[in-house]
Amino acid sequence: MRNMFTVSKKLQDLPPYLFLEIDKAKRKARAEGRDIIDLGVGDPDSPTPEHIIEKLYQAAREPANHRYALDQGMPVLRKAISDWYQRRFNVRLDPETEILPLIGSKEGIAHFPLAFLNEGDYSLVPDPCYPPYKGGTILAGGKPYLMSLKAENAFLPDLKKIPLGIRRKAKMMYINYPNNPTSAVAEKKFYEDIVSFSVKNKTIVISDLAYSEMAYDGYRPSSFLEIEGSREVGIEFHSLSKTYNMTGWRVGWACGNAKLIQALAKVKSNIDSGIFSAVQLAGIAALEGPQHYVVDMCNLYQQRRDTLITGLKSIGWDIKPPKATFYVWIKIPRKTDSIKFAALLLEKANIVVTPGVGFGKNGEGYIRMALTVPKERLQEAVWRLKKIL
Ligand SMILES: *Cc1c(COP(=O)(O)O)cnc(C)c1O
Repeated sequence: MRNMFTVSKKLQDLPPYLFLEIDKAKRKARAEGRDIIDLGVGDPDSPTPEHIIEKLYQAAREPANHRYALDQGMPVLRKAISDWYQRRFNVRLDPETEILPLIGSKEGIAHFPLAFLNEGDYSLVPDPCYPPYKGGTILAGGKPYLMSLKAENAFLPDLKKIPLGIRRKAKMMYINYPNNPTSAVAEKKFYEDIVSFSVKNKTIVISDLAYSEMAYDGYRPSSFLEIEGSREVGIEFHSLSKTYNMTGWRVGWACGNAKLIQALAKVKSNIDSGIFSAVQLAGIAALEGPQHYVVDMCNLYQQRRDTLITGLKSIGWDIKPPKATFYVWIKIPRKTDSIKFAALLLEKANIVVTPGVGFGKNGEGYIRMALTVPKERLQEAVWRLKKIL
């Protein structure tokens, strides 16, 4: 008999959301009154800078901002994004046709495949990866082809390993550097190889640049759009979330190839009605206001990174300090799987980490720690690890 509650094939095909399970275990531990150190979520613990909040207050009082926002974003915001790309990467973008504001970049990343995939089309997805690359592909009826990210290849996909049959059929490819969860970075040569691959195989490139401003020791990540020919084949997603501690605000954008932007805009015009105008205006304040907050943020995470890496070294875990992102990707120092190891750390040390397998099968054997707690808590976490291991 037909069951009205049978979810769609697409929903059934979505990978289980492991993070919900971790969240449940964490909440249970907290409810028991245990002192949990949460290194699990990639969400900044510092507040949004004051001048951005102030702008929201002001803009929220304006009745003109209470109505439906234009679904292609306010022209002033698109202009501010264009100016920022020019200043930061020396990339010129046409605010009218090459920039599309998003309600956080995640929705754009997940909606994009709806614009280009037909049933059964392949999208090339790194593994491990940020989950919406797979989720968006599956919800659009496409099939993710997993490109393994391995330590021996510096967590870059090995393009030569993609079978010819898949290459010819792959409609799109996701890349993400600085990378979540591995914290790997990519140099320009890698992006050049991606452009050649894409031209040869007619594959759309989707570059996720969420962490470009979170980098250390003077390292400055590049944009895919700096590469010659990139705009003929791809788009880049960016976001205010990590740069300005604005994860809850939901402001991001897509930029690059105008045809790709217009197709995504068409999908979105059928789904949402834009970002709250007051939030868009506050977003401009973020991009155009004082930028020392970004420097302060990097200094803060860099100090935490050093505290954690030094601490882990003292207990025999030798981990290379990440050049960017607020993640430390750690090879599990014993023979157990990542879910069991994460469960052990929660049970015995009251530390929450993310098991690597939650980002894909190639994440097995690793855990991810986020630098989203103060130095003293990271120190405390190391002491606890020392005690139990
Ligand atoms: C945090 C993050 C984003 C940003 O998501 P928003 O929806 O803009 O908050 C995008 N990509 C990756 C890989 C991330 O980790």
